[in-house]
Amino acid sequence: MSDTVFDHLGGTIRLGPTIAAGGEGTVCAIDGSPGFVAKIYHKPPSPDDVAKLRAMIGWPSKRIEDICKTAAWPIKTLHKNHGQPALGFVMLRMDNFSPIHKLYGPRQRRISFPKVDWYCLTKAARNCAAAFATLHEHGVVIGDVNESNVRVSDKMTIAIIDCDSFQIQEADRVYRCNVGVPTFTPPELQGKSLRHHTRSVNHDRFGLAVMIFHLLMMGRHPFAGRFLGHGNMEIEHAIRDFRYAYGSTAEFNQMQPPPHSVPLNALSSDLVALFERAFSPKSTLLRPSPKEWVTALDQFEKTLLRCQTDLGHRYPQHLGKCVWCHLMAQQAPNFFISVGAALGQQVHKFDLSTIWRLIDQVDFPTCSYSRPLMPTGFSAKPWPTNLPKLIPSRPTKPATVSNEKPPAPRYPPWPAHLPTAFPAKPIAPSILTSPPDPPIAELPSLEVVRYALRPSYGQQLACWIPTATALPLIVITLLTYVGRDCLAAPGQAFQNSR
Ligand SMILES: [Zn+2]
Repeated sequence: MSDTVFDHLGGTIRLGPTIAAGGEGTVCAIDGSPGFVAKIYHKPPSPDDVAKLRAMIGWPSKRIEDICKTAAWPIKTLHKNHGQPALGFVMLRMDNFSPIHKLYGPRQRRISFPKVDWYCLTKAARNCAAAFATLHEHGVVIGDVNESNVRVSDKMTIAIIDCDSFQIQEADRVYRCNVGVPTFTPPELQGKSLRHHTRSVNHDRFGLAVMIFHLLMMGRHPFAGRFLGHGNMEIEHAIRDFRYAYGSTAEFNQMQPPPHSVPLNALSSDLVALFERAFSPKSTLLRPSPKEWVTALDQFEKTLLRCQTDLGHRYPQHLGKCVWCHLMAQQAPNFFISVGAALGQQVHKFDLSTIWRLIDQVDFPTCSYSRPLMPTGFSAKPWPTNLPKLIPSRPTKPATVSNEKPPAPRYPPWPAHLPTAFPAKPIAPSILTSPPDPPIAELPSLEVVRYALRPSYGQQLACWIPTATALPLIVITLLTYVGRDCLAAPGQAFQNSR
């Protein structure tokens, strides 16, 4: 990457050190312009992206100035040389802003924003809604609402970055937002190709409602709860099925808020109603506008009182007691433990004598154990006479283990009427013999008797007919040959013999 690039007007821009690097590009400081930074893409942007950047920087300066109060809007395109395609753009430098998940996540908040209480979180939610309202008024759809693009400062002001992914419209052409985070994507877009869908402000309003819920409810997601059906319920599936875990239809949808979560009645009725509208099946038509959120959050902020037990706690007036102390009594963590410490509240370190004194202050339980009485009118039976009256003494173990052989046992004398030796064992035959041949039965000799059977008349007739037929033919044949030779002339006989 060259250190010197040119803006779209031909001005020279000298790039400074890298501030941040992401998957899409690198953000660098600009020498001589401390209030601005340059975003340089890793890969050359597509012609559509270049056209979108050109359209964004071409908006009226008053409009861009208004948007830049809450967003890092592109104000110049950057080029390697004059006339070449854009390789990045210049935007406002948003220092001292952190990703908003560091604010709403209780664990990270103790580190990044240790002094922030519920009042500040309400203020951040209100400012977030106001930023959305500004962008929507100028026809901008954020599209990719997520916990990293929305940034927050120590003063709870909001800045939205990655503006080059916003959806804008220039004349008749719509430059879409091609990306999105599923947990901030509305039900009607879940599982769909975002590249092929034109977003609306109503889609942004779902992401805004999720963001405000995160801020007010200690980082909980409105669709992440205890699923009472079989298997696990992914957040994306719950969003698609409108399974709002805190809503009026949560029980019907087999959902419950997770344990130790902030009860929904800790919010004002206006906020509860807005969340219900934002996450119900009817929300696909119209969700609460950012201005409605601003109004409801402004009202809610005014009702917050400081807890007398813990300086870090703020609770709404309509509850009449501190919701955070109530949660802690139910074994929930102190979500604002760092705030009390920051305000100088005494924090008990582990001191055994102090802990023991606190244990001593615990009241003993009022219930006492008393042994049940024996039933009256009961008389014991006498001990059976056939049983020993004492338990036999336990055999004593040998004191030491010795290797000596035990003495030989002493047997009684052999009875005189028994043989003194075992009978001899029968001797088995040394050679195995085959069993004798069975005797041959004397059968009478077979005598063949031949009987001469006289042929039947049919057989005789069948024999005589061919004989009687063949005999005259033989005689006639002989006579023909003999007579011809005797009666013919010698030459003719010779010829006939040939
Ligand atoms: Zn409290």
